[in-house]
Amino acid sequence: MKKVFILFAVSLVALMSLSSTSYAYVLTGYKFSNAAFTYDSSQLLYYGTEFTNAKNAWHNAYSKITWTFNDSVTEVSLYDGNYGNTDYNATTRINPSGTTTINASVSMNYYHMSGYSSTKNQAIITHELGHVLGLNDDNSDVKQIMCQDGYGRTATVPGSEDIKGAKALYP
Ligand SMILES: [Zn+2]
Repeated sequence: MKKVFILFAVSLVALMSLSSTSYAYVLTGYKFSNAAFTYDSSQLLYYGTEFTNAKNAWHNAYSKITWTFNDSVTEVSLYDGNYGNTDYNATTRINPSGTTTINASVSMNYYHMSGYSSTKNQAIITHELGHVLGLNDDNSDVKQIMCQDGYGRTATVPGSEDIKGAKALYP
């Protein structure tokens, strides 16, 4: 089977982008068929606690989003490690069929994240899980988790517009 991978990287350096939109959230164009996610965090070496807090933050923000550990039928795989001086803190890769995401993976770079607070790392992972859901970067409001770190994000949990986006994806 041919697989198409789409990569969402968190830039450390702010990029020029974004035209005006009528919403304070942006969709990637890809989403899972429902918001009951299976995940495998068994490979995490460093950021298991931050991932747990991040997934719970999404559930607390919108209860329809649920996370169940399943290392045999895994929709969302989590990895961390020292990937060197990359231009991202963490990155999300999705594997879609058409516009439906079949599975996704989030990789967290210890090289950068080891220098950050646990709270900041939790925010980084929550942002990446937003990409997993189907939300894209939107740098118009620093109080939203989908604002990129390089644009001065202050949110550590999903904000009001992030939640609107999640509800639009999984009504
Ligand atoms: Zn991003």
